[in-house]
Amino acid sequence: MKTFDTIILGGGASACMCAMSTKNQKIAIIDNNNKIAKKLLVTGNGRCNITNKNIDSIFFNCNIDRFLNRFNNNSTISFFDKLGLVLYHDEKGRYYPISNSAKSVTSVIENTLNKKQIKLFLNTQILKINKKENKFLIETNNESFICNKVVLALGKYDKSIMDFEFKIKTIAPSLVGLKANVSRGLNNVKLKNVLVKAYYKDSTKEDFGEVLFRENGLSGIVIFNLSSLFARNKEFNGKISINLLPNFNKNELYNLLNKRKSLNISLNHFFDGLFVKEISYEILTRAKIDESTKSNLLTSPQLEKLCHIIQNLDFKINGFLENNQVISGGISLDCFDNNLQSKNIPNLFACGEILDVDGECGGYNLQWAWTSGYIVGQNI
Ligand SMILES: Cc1cc2nc3c(=O)[nH]c(=O)nc-3n(C[C@H](O)[C@H](O)[C@H](O)COP(=O)(O)OP(=O)(O)OC[C@H]3O[C@@H](n4cnc5c(N)ncnc54)[C@H](O)[C@@H]3O)c2cc1C
Repeated sequence: MKTFDTIILGGGASACMCAMSTKNQKIAIIDNNNKIAKKLLVTGNGRCNITNKNIDSIFFNCNIDRFLNRFNNNSTISFFDKLGLVLYHDEKGRYYPISNSAKSVTSVIENTLNKKQIKLFLNTQILKINKKENKFLIETNNESFICNKVVLALGKYDKSIMDFEFKIKTIAPSLVGLKANVSRGLNNVKLKNVLVKAYYKDSTKEDFGEVLFRENGLSGIVIFNLSSLFARNKEFNGKISINLLPNFNKNELYNLLNKRKSLNISLNHFFDGLFVKEISYEILTRAKIDESTKSNLLTSPQLEKLCHIIQNLDFKINGFLENNQVISGGISLDCFDNNLQSKNIPNLFACGEILDVDGECGGYNLQWAWTSGYIVGQNI
């Protein structure tokens, strides 16, 4: 049996930050992957959107000010700067390594863990975590461990491996594409600068930016962000509504289309110069107007119908697509004090996504991993 002061369970972003910010202790990380912080390599499309210029609780599912006040985006930037990681931000405030490669992030993490002589147990599956008297016992597929303090940094709550009683908030995918009936012609079409509204029962949420059509649903950053509206509900009967031209009010759009009537072309060319072909076809199909109709024959009700569709391209949502980026729900923050130590189980800490904290797309989820990991690291 191996003995340590503290064992961090899971070797993702929050675990690494926790280990990097501890004072001198005999610490181990146990993870089932063959590499530390492996998931970081796929974040931000391989570029790792490490944090955001604008960090605030409003970008998360709950108020985390008491944690952000102690370690925020600026703390993240200067923490990694000291490790030699050079960052830049894009026009949306998203920070990336200047190399545009997530490998730069994992490399500086590996160097730091190495320097601090953190013991890594990789390819090791944690099977059971128990507390007996004042010690934590950890069984894995390889060997057993014993320690005084334990940190849950597993990314997701898994009841089957721990005997502790926690208040759990329903676990569901978030930052995920939404299943919808999308016409085949729209597959892979990308829209930019659109206003998207999500409707679920009495709740609505909206966002502006990019949408990507998939074979069986909607994807892209805006959809990921809006998906949280559905994540916290058990059933699907919601709707996504896309406004293709949000900068035009109803009258302006009507006048724009009315003016185009004089182009005197058949309707399959009516939207040329305004929308890509796939979108034009979708609008005409929904409006049930024959493509061969000449534009100058369009009636007022037909123009109004086209305007309505352009500003309300609606999709009924009937599920989530695969490959969610984040888990919403998890162990309630109510179970932990301000240092993220369990209120009922002394010397048990938690950080990262296993807790019921999730943020929008844009570096917010990693910021939570850094914030919570740092606070635990400073307090174990
Ligand atoms: C495709 C993708 C892209 C993303 N892009 C971004 C982005 O650009 N910016 C951003 O802010 N966020 C992004 N995220 C979200 C972000 O990666 C997570 O919020 C963050 O990694 C959570 O860190 P964590 O330490 O809590 O958990 P994780 O990183 O999930 O780490 C948990 C670790 O525990 C291990 N583990 C779990 N159970 C066991 C077990 N029983 N035994 C052994 N090991 C176990 C897992 O294998 C894993 O390595 C992205 C997520 C995905 C999936």
